[in-house]
Amino acid sequence: MNKLIDLRSDTVTRPTPAMYEQMLRAPLGDDTYGEDPTVNALQERVASILGFEAALFVPTGTQSNLCAILAHCGRGDEYIVGQNAHCYRWEGGGAAVLGGVQPQPVEHEADGTLLLARLREAVKPDNEHHAITRLLTLENTIGGKMLPLPYLDAATLLATECGLATHLDGARLFNAAVAQAERSGTTPTLEARRIASHFDTVSVCFSKGLGAPAGSALCGNANFIKRAKRIRKLCGGAMRQSGILASAALYALDHNIARLAEDHRLAMLLYEGLLDIDGVQVERPDTNILFLELQGTAQERSSELLRTLGSAGIAATGHYQRLRLVTHMDVDEVDIAHAIQTIRNFFKKS
Ligand SMILES: *Cc1c(COP(=O)(O)O)cnc(C)c1O
Repeated sequence: MNKLIDLRSDTVTRPTPAMYEQMLRAPLGDDTYGEDPTVNALQERVASILGFEAALFVPTGTQSNLCAILAHCGRGDEYIVGQNAHCYRWEGGGAAVLGGVQPQPVEHEADGTLLLARLREAVKPDNEHHAITRLLTLENTIGGKMLPLPYLDAATLLATECGLATHLDGARLFNAAVAQAERSGTTPTLEARRIASHFDTVSVCFSKGLGAPAGSALCGNANFIKRAKRIRKLCGGAMRQSGILASAALYALDHNIARLAEDHRLAMLLYEGLLDIDGVQVERPDTNILFLELQGTAQERSSELLRTLGSAGIAATGHYQRLRLVTHMDVDEVDIAHAIQTIRNFFKKS
């Protein structure tokens, strides 16, 4: 059987032999005693790359955001967040369920930003009728889009003026950094730090395009990380010889950041290959995520398209009239050409 071309997400990648090799050799200890040298090395490394005092290794991005929100906010507080943001829409309502922290969602603009005027409006006055607005969370990339640096400047400045803390869900921060570095002729780590420097706290995922099997890190100052660590424990996220996972993350930081440019290139190929199909609109991707919008009569055919892709050995995600295709290290140019051909043939037959 041919391999599955899995374009549902960049979370589907498998560790490479070289990554496994490094995991096998990782020095280990009990991280709950702070004695896993590999976890400690990873935490220092991430903190230093992103310009923070400290970092905390956590099993998932969801737990990372949860630790962040609960370390910033108490019961009866609220956080301002994008309507489609992962830490509002896709994390089971954890901050509300487990922390009594209310989200204040705000509609996105087409470029993924949250209008400053809307943010300002969302901040509640100090009045017993309202929850206390404590935190602004942004996401970068969001739906594969980079948030422009001048926007980050303005939004985080506004938050600070309003007395809010700021958190970045940077699950795909390095995708944004790589795309930004390409445009400005600098390096991905420099751009990653530049993005991170706007925020009090930042979460990054190793299990997306970076290709590690699991793990995220939350960065902040030492006091904040101490609070977040307590929350990680109560969420059940304090692990033991987790250096075995941290070593995969270290491998990813050493070897898999610059190569994200290849994922972006493949997403662009996909975009160019699907540009001129009747009834299908594609948005030019900034990074590794491409959306196909089915219009008119094509709309009724989205589940049929998913089935056709499935029979051709291609998996994609379909939400309503939208198809999401994500590129990553386990697909190549041949796979992308096959996906383009399959989609084009599907619409030719209509
Ligand atoms: C994947 C993702 C997360 C959460 O990661 P998990 O490890 O799946 O919990 C958070 N935010 C964004 C933007 C993500 O894409």
